[in-house]
Amino acid sequence: MKIRLSKDFRFEMAHALQDYDGKCRHIHGHSFIFTVTVIGEIIHDENSTKNGMVIDYGDLKKIVKKFIIDKYDHALVLNEKSEFLDGLYRPDRKIIPLPFQPTSENLLVHFAEILQAELPQNVKLHNMKLHETANSFAEWFREDNEA
Ligand SMILES: [Zn+2]
Repeated sequence: MKIRLSKDFRFEMAHALQDYDGKCRHIHGHSFIFTVTVIGEIIHDENSTKNGMVIDYGDLKKIVKKFIIDKYDHALVLNEKSEFLDGLYRPDRKIIPLPFQPTSENLLVHFAEILQAELPQNVKLHNMKLHETANSFAEWFREDNEA
């Protein structure tokens, strides 16, 4: 029996879109809400401390926090081609240049690669939702991205 398990995360992040024709070309911030859903079989093992679970919520939290939230929370995320990097970048500042436009869509693709590499074998990344504002969000679904 397969079950999906989800966890919500919140982080504050600033970004700017390079060569964009709207307001988002300026540096601005969002309070992101990030939902991760994994799918897997329930562990049926009386000798396991995780008996009856798909994954310990605490373990899922640790992985997402370590590889995504801790890195991106309170960071300024810019396209590596951004002219803002010239004046602002210093190694001791939490500024992350990325080899792509830092839109929610591209961030989800990036987060999917990270989580698929870090999640334990018994669960698969099922979908993710990234709320950029209260009424705008992007979603990644594994079924949309399987060949
Ligand atoms: Zn934005």
